[in-house]
Amino acid sequence: MKKISVLGSTGSIGTQTLDVIAMHPDSFQVDGLAAGTNTALLLEQVRRFNPRRVSVATKELADEIRSSLPSGIQLYSGNEGLVEVAAGGDAEIVVTAVMGSVGLQSTLAAIEAGKHIGLANKETLVTAGHLVTELANRKGVKLFPIDSEHSAIFQCLNGENLADIACITLTASGGSFRDFTRDQLKNVTVEDALRHPNWSMGAKITIDSATMVNKGLEVIEAHWLFGLPYEQVNVLLHPESIIHSYVEFRDSSIIAQLGNPDMRVPIQYALTYPDRWESPAQRLSLAEIGRLTFREMDYERFPALKLAMDCGKAGGTATTAFNAANEIAVARFLRHEIPFLRIEEIIAEVLHRHINEDNPNLEQIESCDKRVRELAATL
Ligand code: NDP
Ligand code: MG
Repeated sequence: MKKISVLGSTGSIGTQTLDVIAMHPDSFQVDGLAAGTNTALLLEQVRRFNPRRVSVATKELADEIRSSLPSGIQLYSGNEGLVEVAAGGDAEIVVTAVMGSVGLQSTLAAIEAGKHIGLANKETLVTAGHLVTELANRKGVKLFPIDSEHSAIFQCLNGENLADIACITLTASGGSFRDFTRDQLKNVTVEDALRHPNWSMGAKITIDSATMVNKGLEVIEAHWLFGLPYEQVNVLLHPESIIHSYVEFRDSSIIAQLGNPDMRVPIQYALTYPDRWESPAQRLSLAEIGRLTFREMDYERFPALKLAMDCGKAGGTATTAFNAANEIAVARFLRHEIPFLRIEEIIAEVLHRHINEDNPNLEQIESCDKRVRELAATL
């Protein structure tokens, strides 16, 4: 029995993680569940998976659900609650599937407690990649990628020597507006942006896909997960999302990972590595698909991607600032407060004012994150 805790259990990745766990009841057991505000779904999950510890976003919510919980379950709240679920208990793997850099402290706590990480929460690596990877190395903890592109690269690197990599290429579907001109982007609505052609995901990452910020976050995520310099991380438009990413080696061989878009495959692989188990994903028929298409990435059409890559190369707190500005701008767009194109303008304005701090510690990262959020909320 492998014990697993899920941070963000009520979200898109969280619920799919529980789907995977439910398919293998003799192999997996849920130790902890942390949700935000969706207490109805959390209570349903508690009845179904019988965890030892649960957490919700606030103390008020915890008080509301206390009497509905079966006895013997530890109930926590807030950021401390996330940390308790992440680091307490005896889970072997913690799946980090909360949205945003709010996941940083709990991820660090889980690693500190020696738990392997199934990493979906890419913002954690973007905001503090050096701290997370350094601690994981020190603790001998593995970071199993759940993001489909990074799971693909991880799978392609099985048994390979890192020194033989020429470069890796992350594929990008292009998001909801991939065929729009910049001019056409001026009047797009929240509803338009939430309609992703290939993947059904949480709201924030769906907007990030439309702005191409998501691919920028993923380039930074790849840099930290695989220890590669930015010069060796490429991006290619691939509208069908069948090739999830690929590695080119120094002998010119390319190894790619393919499959129908279904997050349950990378989630399950993170939980069963190095083994592969049956999965409910629909099998891929290349004969039926007939052909796959690719396009060079257009950095003028998607300037936020270029900005993210520049922040990655700059290092320090630049990626922290990029991520925090984006989180606030996307939340404001989702609340209909700003137009779509204002998201990337806000990020650019924040970065223009940002004074970079090299090799920041956790305190510097948290203070930069807070400062940028305050600024981005007023722009
Ligand atoms: P969702 O918005 O669907 O889910 C977010 C989860 O985090 C929910 O369970 C939410 O709880 C919880 N949450 C939010 N704020 C807090 C908080 N302050 N304290 C505790 N829990 C909180 O997001 P996704 O599942 O789409 O994405 C999660 C992460 O996975 C992101 O980092 C994303 O980039 C990454 N990812 C997602 C993919 C996907 O296919 N969805 C693919 C690859 C990566 P509640 O709903 O109860 O409020
Ligand atoms: Mg991805």
